[in-house]
Amino acid sequence: MNAIKSKIRTVPDFPTKGIMFRDVTTLFKDPQGLKDVITSFSEQWSGRGITCIVGIDARGFIIGGALAYELGLGFVPIRKKGKLPPKTLSQTYTLEYGEDSVEILDISLDETDKVLIVDDLIATGGTAEASVKLVEAVGATVVGCAFVIDLPDLPGMNKIRALGLECHALCAFEGH
Ligand code: AMP
Repeated sequence: MNAIKSKIRTVPDFPTKGIMFRDVTTLFKDPQGLKDVITSFSEQWSGRGITCIVGIDARGFIIGGALAYELGLGFVPIRKKGKLPPKTLSQTYTLEYGEDSVEILDISLDETDKVLIVDDLIATGGTAEASVKLVEAVGATVVGCAFVIDLPDLPGMNKIRALGLECHALCAFEGH
């Protein structure tokens, strides 16, 4: 098991029965673990002309803030519905049961920006795909998407690659 994966705690049946919750708080608490995450992303994505890091609510803020600092870039949040002041753009996506929305400030980015989107985990890819649409809706370009964890039995990574975007994760867990 790689050094990053070994520091992620798994909590069975959270938040609902059958879900294996991959808890990155244990990874982020570990100084070397947090450093390994940021160093790996920095090595993977530097030299690509990225102008801004976009982090997805909420664990994407922890990674995104540290990565932006490491790369000498700014940071823009994509937040769950109702958290950002006007004016926002909103994108709705489908969950297993029902739907949810994410939002971005309309002044956050422009057509000169080339963006890396980051989050802790990609599962179905619904959140990441909605985030790509938001960044494009404000006129910026998505260079790629970076995750700590991929769940390869779910279609998320392929969904993002089908949009023509580069997409990487630092480790993978089988199952849901
Ligand atoms: P999805 O939109 O299905 O790709 O789900 C990704 C979002 O849900 C990320 O922001 C994750 O933090 C969270 N998530 C989904 N599945 C899990 C899981 N098994 N463990 C921890 N977080 C998860």
